[in-house]
Amino acid sequence: MAFDYKVKRTEADAKARVDAYVEPRDCFIWFTGNRWGWQSFSETGDTPCAHYVAHQVGLRGSGSVVCAAGYLVRVSDVVSRLGDAIDPKDVCPGDVWARLKGAARSGGGNEPTSHCGMVTAVLRDAAGKVTSVSITHCSSGQRRVAVDDWRRRFGGGGHFYRLPDRERSAETDANLPRLLKGFAFRPPFTPVRTG
Ligand SMILES: [Zn+2]
Repeated sequence: MAFDYKVKRTEADAKARVDAYVEPRDCFIWFTGNRWGWQSFSETGDTPCAHYVAHQVGLRGSGSVVCAAGYLVRVSDVVSRLGDAIDPKDVCPGDVWARLKGAARSGGGNEPTSHCGMVTAVLRDAAGKVTSVSITHCSSGQRRVAVDDWRRRFGGGGHFYRLPDRERSAETDANLPRLLKGFAFRPPFTPVRTG
């Protein structure tokens, strides 16, 4: 389906153009204004990883680019709300992993793209040293919500962040246990705004 910018889109039109693997899917749209109506973020070049994380931890935005339910959709916006990175040796399930395009990598070079996901498993050896970190992320490359090893897939790049107390909500507390049990995301109480 070619995108015809001359046709005003309804909310349903825009929803139908959200890539099937996006989670959550129905709200990955925005209202562009009365002239052209609604548009899917799948058509604007916005990858769905930050939107996935924002819903899981409950980061709504104001004055920035947000989905139809009010959640952040850009990695840089998510990172700026999370504050300083934590030490990788302290990483725990429920933390956020993110990298920003162009940022320096600890092993040299620069991060190739902005990307983020949720930490869903951490293994430590007997001495307490982190031996593996699993990242669950909405992957545009794999076109699915994938679980990947932090070092193998992301070269150990990016940083880990812990949701600050000021950002925690009942929504966070409802979502994270579900995520860590491996359930698919289900918006607990996030009606999609219309109009
Ligand atoms: Zn959304």
